[in-house]
Amino acid sequence: MRCKMCGEKAVIKLKAYNLSLCTKCFDEFILRRVQKAIKDYYLIENGQKVMVAVSGGKDSLSLWHILHRLGYKTKGLYIQLGINEYSEKSEKFVKNFASLHGLEIQIENVREYFNGYGIKDISKIVRRPACSVCGMIKRYIMNKVAYEGEFILATGHNLDDEVATLLNNVLDWKTDYLGRQTPNLSSKDKLVQKIKPLVLCTEREMASYAINAKIKYIRDECPFSVGATSIFYKQLLNQLEEHSPGSKLRFYKNFLKVRYLFQTEEPELHPCDICGYPTTGKICNFCKLRERIVSKATISFSADS
Ligand code: SF4
Ligand code: ZN
Repeated sequence: MRCKMCGEKAVIKLKAYNLSLCTKCFDEFILRRVQKAIKDYYLIENGQKVMVAVSGGKDSLSLWHILHRLGYKTKGLYIQLGINEYSEKSEKFVKNFASLHGLEIQIENVREYFNGYGIKDISKIVRRPACSVCGMIKRYIMNKVAYEGEFILATGHNLDDEVATLLNNVLDWKTDYLGRQTPNLSSKDKLVQKIKPLVLCTEREMASYAINAKIKYIRDECPFSVGATSIFYKQLLNQLEEHSPGSKLRFYKNFLKVRYLFQTEEPELHPCDICGYPTTGKICNFCKLRERIVSKATISFSADS
């Protein structure tokens, strides 16, 4: 198998593009895919600083690597979630990556916001699934930190992540979610612009990029992701892709063309009475949760004393 671009020995076959590529041409291919997403979806304007949310996994670290190589001003943001060894391990990968490449990283610890409790404890206290608590907390902290530093926020969602979400939204016709599913969510008041520069790259392509670039990333999955519906949807979509190469990309790009049909007027937002960040109610969900956890901590403290 020869590289279609330069004739060297090919290392990867991309069926969706009917393309075999060598290591060097594959590297250029990925950079071009990311640049295309940035250009086609107007993700980063001149001079904007990009905060890259990194988890220690292949996608987010590769995204940071790529944006840095493309010359963008970046800073990493790692949120220490407090999920046992998984969190300890992933933090090490992120710190090592940042120091190896001389990049700046900001580390935020969920325990510092919630009286010493991490995601696992909070989920138990409020009896809600860890992912629902975690998703809300991460979104809040990412937005706050990016806003305070005047950054836009980039996440490592790849094409497989986006089509799995799309399938989930379509199956239940969650039209409001469909209207908001975009690689470029504009800023509004104290909500920063959120971008997904990897949407034109598959999970397999990103894993190959990370290996070629010798990026050391955490291979373990978060223990709470086991059995997630999105994993099952990804398997289904891989079968579809195998049968009809290019399906994922078609599904996603054609959706973006009709997304406007699902867009509705944004709900009115007001500053949260406690933190001042936008919310639909009087107090935002983050502050409500924090109050609950703090009062729980106080109750157990008085009970213990
Ligand atoms: Fe958080 Fe769930 Fe993702 Fe784990 S799998 S990091 S708990 S959202
Ligand atoms: Zn608030």
